[in-house]
Amino acid sequence: MTNSLPPTCNSELLRAISNMVGVLKEGRLIDINPAGVSMLGADTPDAVLGHELAEFIHADYADLIALGIDAFAEEETGVPLKLRPINAMPIDVLMLVRELTQIPDDQGVPSYMVECRDISNYIRASEDARRREQRLANVLGTVRDAIITIDQKGNVQSINAAGERMFGYPKNQVLGQNVKMLMPSHYADHHDHHLHAYVTQGNALSLENSRELEGQHANGAVFPIELTVTEMKEGNQRLFTGVIRDITERKKAQDKIKHMAHHDALTQLPNRNLYIERVERAIVRAERSGKPLAILFVDLDKFKPINDELGHEAGDAVLKAVAERMLTCVRLSDTVARFGGDEFVAILENLDHADSAAVVAQKVISRLLEPIPVADGKLASVGASIGISIFPEDGKTLDELAHAADQAMYAVKESGRNNFKFYREVKSKSA
Ligand code: GH3
Ligand code: MG
Repeated sequence: MTNSLPPTCNSELLRAISNMVGVLKEGRLIDINPAGVSMLGADTPDAVLGHELAEFIHADYADLIALGIDAFAEEETGVPLKLRPINAMPIDVLMLVRELTQIPDDQGVPSYMVECRDISNYIRASEDARRREQRLANVLGTVRDAIITIDQKGNVQSINAAGERMFGYPKNQVLGQNVKMLMPSHYADHHDHHLHAYVTQGNALSLENSRELEGQHANGAVFPIELTVTEMKEGNQRLFTGVIRDITERKKAQDKIKHMAHHDALTQLPNRNLYIERVERAIVRAERSGKPLAILFVDLDKFKPINDELGHEAGDAVLKAVAERMLTCVRLSDTVARFGGDEFVAILENLDHADSAAVVAQKVISRLLEPIPVADGKLASVGASIGISIFPEDGKTLDELAHAADQAMYAVKESGRNNFKFYREVKSKSA
């Protein structure tokens, strides 16, 4: 048994190996294994033996080759470069060079072993991976949603460009910081607790369902966001990725739709829908407090002639002025609504006495009698007929109270307009 391999490239081992293994002397190949012959694109060893190794190395690496073979020998982990085989496409290889101290030479010229491992598959795979990563980075850079990854302690691991823009911080001011810096205090105060509860118990946070909460910009502005969180494992680290959408515009649109559904477009007063909600709530409060509640139905007198004589726009201006003036006659906590046409209604709550509604009704009549400026310096004037119903005497429900106020209002119209009446005054007559 020998304790070293025979110093020849023709050993069985070198024939079996798939890497190129050759021997270099004064820069020329003096021996080569079969894998090396085919890696260099040759049919027989003779086609390459005696040639300089540099002939088979891609021109891009000429500067490297110029450093000399010693420089390669010093790189223990090898040098990646491209081989240029005869009549074939370049191959990416990792080249390892070792000085062969046991091959004797009379003149003391050193020989080197050259080993080339084909790494083209590895290079291709890593280029693919790099391209995929780049593509992903491009996507993350162009999405409008903020994408922020945090670790189990809540420290930010990554933030995309949209995140930087949305929260107004450059990346380097956020990375490694606790994500709480991006939340207003009423959320930030609970975040540690929620995250800890999730990490330790696993189910305290409902992940993957989006939730609406608020973010805080570097300038202090708080804005509504929609957050979706997914959990990932990276090695044995648990990471949480939040996709955050700024929903300011969506909220504005929702608020607008909600406002439109509950308000009259011309006067911006509550419409019949909101009036119904408000009366129902007012009834509950009045039952609890025992204080009377008054409903005033107001129909303008001779409004149609304003439209006919001064034009529809003048009519609209009058309706707006009526809305503003009625609001000045009630408390802030009371409601003035428009039912449409020239019909308005006031809900008066917390009255000391039912007769207090008469004071408000009189005030409305007086305020509306003041001339109303309309277009072209013209003035319009309207009167108002007001019917009043009182909870609980005149009705206990929305419908009963509305019916009673309506009856009282018509009684005013019939008895000459521009006045008010309580339902109790008219019910004995209509009965
Ligand atoms: P009365 O004294 O009996 O109440 O009669 P009136 O002239 O006030 O007429 P009435 O209450 O019967 O009808 C209200 C009119 O208001 C009918 C319609 O032409 C007009 N009107 C309804 N909605 C609008 C509106 O949005 N803008 C304007 N300019 N006019 C409206
Ligand atoms: Mg009218």
